[in-house]
Order: sequence, then structure tokens, then C-alpha cells
Amino acid sequence: RIVYVNGEFLPEESATVSIFDRGFLFADGVYEVSPVLKGQMFDNDGHLVRLQRSLSELRISLPMPVDEIVAIQNELIERNRLQEGMIYLQVTRGAADRDFAFPKDAKPSIVLFTQTLSILDSPKAKKGLSVITVPDIRWSRRDIKTVGLLAQSLAKQAALDEGADDAWMVQDGFVTEGSSNNAFIVTQDGKIITRNLSNDILHGITRKAVLALVEREGLLLEERAFTPEEAYEAAEAFSTSATGFVMPVVKIDGRILHNGAPGPVSVRLRGLYIEAAMALIDA
Ligand code: PLP
Repeated sequence: RIVYVNGEFLPEESATVSIFDRGFLFADGVYEVSPVLKGQMFDNDGHLVRLQRSLSELRISLPMPVDEIVAIQNELIERNRLQEGMIYLQVTRGAADRDFAFPKDAKPSIVLFTQTLSILDSPKAKKGLSVITVPDIRWSRRDIKTVGLLAQSLAKQAALDEGADDAWMVQDGFVTEGSSNNAFIVTQDGKIITRNLSNDILHGITRKAVLALVEREGLLLEERAFTPEEAYEAAEAFSTSATGFVMPVVKIDGRILHNGAPGPVSVRLRGLYIEAAMALIDA
């Protein structure tokens, strides 16, 4: 695989970053994951807008103009002949002697790589996910997409250790979001519920696109926090993310939803999202 590191396209074996990089020492950096279908990115503009917002919240400068980043992304897709998967992009504050204070003259580091994934033909999407709830032990600026992902990694591993697929995190009795996705439920009377935007959750690019589809289709929506207990009683549930798209959830803390099969609203939204993505790519 060919990757991109600070100005160079290199085979992954030869790509290196400094041990003094503040991404490594302090998780002082941000990232984005853009989906690729049929060798083309989509919703990438949204990801790059969020990247710039994350960077400005941390006072890290973008190392190059956005159109150069897009050119690098496209070159990586081409060089790696990526058909379906994702492009990962990370910017850190750069390398400097270890000190909590921001370095005066560090140059931001930028790294990009591709990863092949089966997005459309996902067995998990057909079967539906089993999730557990775990306490949300993260910091309070989850709207910034930082590389500080240890709490999410612990949450995900706790789920896998229990034989589940993912974890939904809970703060003050309410679900915030999934370990790497936004969480939704559908009530018995057909309302789609997802947590409102705030610093408590990442403002998902896929969440936004799915909410646009919900509105277009005239489905009922409430943006508000919901409890795990409300989720246990829901008609169905699903999560959204750049590489999972819309993922039906069929079990929450052992409670089975919709007889253990993906529900109609989740399946419909997944289909509509894929259709919209294909339309963007073919345009
Ligand atoms: N929430 C968290 C904590 C995430 O890590 C992610 C994606 O990585 C999402 C939500 C979904 O965001 P997006 O749809 O932009 O991928």
C-alpha cells in the first residue's frame, strides 16, 4: 500500500513519523474518515469542513489548502486502486520537545492512508448489530474529532468481550452515541429519535445526511436524548457512520428488538442512503 506522509507518497513500510510528534505523545491531533465507493469519495466536503473546524478549535493550522488535500486523497485512491473502503486523514500539531505548552514553531504533521472495506455487502448490516451500554468516560469536547480514542476503544473491546458488536455510551442516564457512530432509535409509534447536537457528541456527517433523508421522506423526527430503557422498548434501532452507513441494531443489553431482525425503517434508510451515495458518485 502507498501512503502519504508530510509531503511524500511512500510504501507503508518506509513511512515514518517522529517519536516527538504530539499526536503520539498527547493525542494532540484530529482525523477524518471519508468513505469510498466505486473508487470515488462522497460526502468528502462535509468531512473536510469538520476537519477544519476541529483544527481551529485546537488552534492547529491546516498544513495545506483543502484542494491539495483532495488531490492527495484522489491520488491515493488511484495509486492503491481502491474501489471500496475509506481514506483516513490525520493532522497533528507536529513534533517538538515534550512540553504541555504549544510549541512556538512546530509544523503540523499530515498523514493519509487508504483501507479496503466491504461497505455495501456487509454481513453485519444484514444480520443487525448487538450492542451493550457502557458508561461514557470521555472528555467533554466530543464535538472535536481528536485522535484521543482510548475510551471508545475500551468501550468497543468491552462489547466484543461480551460477545456483542458495539457499545453505546451513556452519560447521566442518557445515551450519547456509539463507540464510533451516532445512535438512533425508532419508537413504537414510528418516531425517529437521535440525540441533539452539542459538545456531548460528534456531529456525524452521516447523521446529517440521514436526517436530510428522514425529512425528505416525511418521517417523524425528534432530536433529543434517550435513555437505554427507552431503547429497550423501541420498535427498532440503528447507528450511522461514514463506513457503516446505516447499521441496524437488533439487540441492546440483551433485549431483543424487532424479533432480532433489522427493522423496516432502518432497512429503508440504509437503502436510501446507498441510493443517494450512488447518485452522487454517478453524477
Ligand atoms: N460518533 C463518534 C464517536 C465517531 O467516532 C463517529 C465516526 O467515527 C461518528 C459518531 C460518526 O460520524 P461520521 O458519520 O461523520 O463518520
